[in-house]
Amino acid sequence: MDEIKKDLAKIIRSVKMNIEIEKGFGIDSIIVSKPNKANSSLLNNQHEDKKVETVTSASPFDQQTFASEKERRTKLLEELHQEVLTCHKCPLHKTRTNLVFGVGNSMAELMFVGEAPGRDEDLQGEPFVGRAGQLLTKIIEAIGLKRSDVYIANVLKCRPPGNRNPLPEEIVLCIPYLIKQIEIIRPKVLCALGTFAAQTLLNTKEPVGKLRGTFHNYNGTPAMVTFHPAYLLRNPPDKVKVWEDMKKVRDLLNELAGKNSSS
Ligand code: SF4
Repeated sequence: MDEIKKDLAKIIRSVKMNIEIEKGFGIDSIIVSKPNKANSSLLNNQHEDKKVETVTSASPFDQQTFASEKERRTKLLEELHQEVLTCHKCPLHKTRTNLVFGVGNSMAELMFVGEAPGRDEDLQGEPFVGRAGQLLTKIIEAIGLKRSDVYIANVLKCRPPGNRNPLPEEIVLCIPYLIKQIEIIRPKVLCALGTFAAQTLLNTKEPVGKLRGTFHNYNGTPAMVTFHPAYLLRNPPDKVKVWEDMKKVRDLLNELAGKNSSS
């Protein structure tokens, strides 16, 4: 009888956890899975309902300084955007429809880095606007932020034909633009989405499966690695792992906000 009760309790916990994950990612359907190690750590987390407190309240800037700093960064980003628009450094400029520079808040504390524009992004000139983009928006909202709170950019600014993988020489030529974007925005936390973004930012050949789940160091900025939303669309069970990663990002942002407000 005790065994049956224990099993029932496990099933209930598993269902609850999956509801939370699916709700967090804005999905209405419920996936019931066996409890596993990853599930257990989720269940033991005491802060499931936490959200990132606010993006700006922890800012060390007063309102006026904040506004002028935002204006300064927006101007620098716009100047960089104009420069990249004329870039002919690699052949991708010939086949793209639109340059996909990046989008978001110049004062963002969290910056996402993806791989390269896909078809929808190439057509609209904005990163992460297709199905994968909609999932990224849900991931952002799951930690209590809005898409407009964060900044989103790719390693490559032009679409590789047929969505093929970026070539090493294309990355070498394009990466200075991303580095400048990061320098201007100075996010408190970076989040690399997928293999190319992670390997490029962290200068490693390790696969994303090994890199994800812990913070790495990008020039002094904590950088989380997680799966690309396009991968998640093909492998929905791995949403559990992304949810774990994003909770760490959320908790670190809250911790950093706490340090700022007390200093
Ligand atoms: S992908 Fe980057 S380096 Fe190549 S043309 Fe576009 S902006 Fe220039």
